[in-house]
Amino acid sequence: MKKFFSGLLDLIYKQKCYCCGRSYENKILCSNCYDELEKSAFLPSKFVAGVDVYCAGRYNKSLQKIIRGLKYHKKKELAYYIAQFMYEYWCGLNLKGEFEIVPVPLHKSRLKKRKYNQVDLIADEFSKLSGYTVNKSLIVRTKNTKPQYKLSRIERLENLKNSFEVHKENYNGKRLLIVDDISTTGSTFEVIVNTLKYNGINNMLCFAAATPF
Ligand SMILES: [Zn+2]
Repeated sequence: MKKFFSGLLDLIYKQKCYCCGRSYENKILCSNCYDELEKSAFLPSKFVAGVDVYCAGRYNKSLQKIIRGLKYHKKKELAYYIAQFMYEYWCGLNLKGEFEIVPVPLHKSRLKKRKYNQVDLIADEFSKLSGYTVNKSLIVRTKNTKPQYKLSRIERLENLKNSFEVHKENYNGKRLLIVDDISTTGSTFEVIVNTLKYNGINNMLCFAAATPF
């Protein structure tokens, strides 16, 4: 009977895995589901405006579920697992040198609606793992662009035109690691890289958690 009640309490209070719903590990992402995340090859997945874009994983069912959970369903604890997945991939790349992480910013009206920028949360966790600093004041999103998922690459670039502003006074000369959650056509990175280059900042890499390709 005692066993039955403690089992029942476990069922009620134990953290369920956001992917498979099982609670035996008492974690928001169990190790089984984490192991199912599919890493990309250790090569740049794209090249935008003269800069390499790395994507840690394929946007398969599990990665999609946890990115969406973090982004739309307030499952903030998932940021740690996404960052860990990215960090494992990052270590596999074996790139030398010190970087400063620049999370892709949200426009303030979207930030107000969502209450947090999911990419900031990933960047903070990635910073703890890598020891790199985070710079959230170098780039500001000045235009509230419409969602991009139905647009072509050209339409995306048009949509994003003049939507970021660089605050050069907040640049401290470090090599930048521009971080986003998903990179589809690479147009967000492309616009940011071009804006930074326009401001005389040329040393950077782009890094997303996932790409559908
Ligand atoms: Zn699971």
